[in-house]
Amino acid sequence: MSSPCQHELIKRHAACVVWFTGLSGAGKTTLALALDDALRCRGVHTAVLDGDSLRLGLNSDLGFSPEDRATNVRRTAQVSKLMLDAGLVVIVSLISPQAESRDQARSLFNANQFFEVYLNTPLAVCEQRDPKGLYQLARGGDIAQFTGISAGYEVPANPDLVLQTHQYTISECLERLLAMLEPALKRRSVN
Ligand code: ADP
Repeated sequence: MSSPCQHELIKRHAACVVWFTGLSGAGKTTLALALDDALRCRGVHTAVLDGDSLRLGLNSDLGFSPEDRATNVRRTAQVSKLMLDAGLVVIVSLISPQAESRDQARSLFNANQFFEVYLNTPLAVCEQRDPKGLYQLARGGDIAQFTGISAGYEVPANPDLVLQTHQYTISECLERLLAMLEPALKRRSVN
């Protein structure tokens, strides 16, 4: 039943999910945090779900097998849905290498509520950045099932936005993200 006190009336913007996918080091966390800052400065109510943080708690029982990665995405999508229902703009930063899992995540939401953002950054660039030193460990055989090295990444077929983070600065990526989101945030199901 529809309440006269809809979240979007209280918050003054619509809710949506921005789902960053891409290799480790592509820039998911960096852009998620930059977007979070930019939106909050505009008075938007946000939440960030970062894969690394989730693996410390909610998903601490999971490893990196294909099954566990699918569970990782499924749980994150379900939490995103709960947060969206509470009226938030949810920013997800998760490698999410499997197309089927990402599609299942999308299927939880209405059209115009879910934005898949593919950070299309070449493996060589990610490996050179290696912000967490993980590629070095993976190349040395100290991390198994590492995306891009010893585990696959399925490139999104129809992402809502593709960002080449090796060609654009963080500010340029942010501009494109905000331009994509502007109409969605204004859209209201109630007046
Ligand atoms: P991920 O979360 O995808 O593993 P991180 O955000 O942790 O990646 O690391 C990405 C690194 O790349 C950071 O050191 C960041 O400063 C750098 N970087 C350079 N250009 C960009 C860009 N345009 N967008 C995002 N990150 C960038």
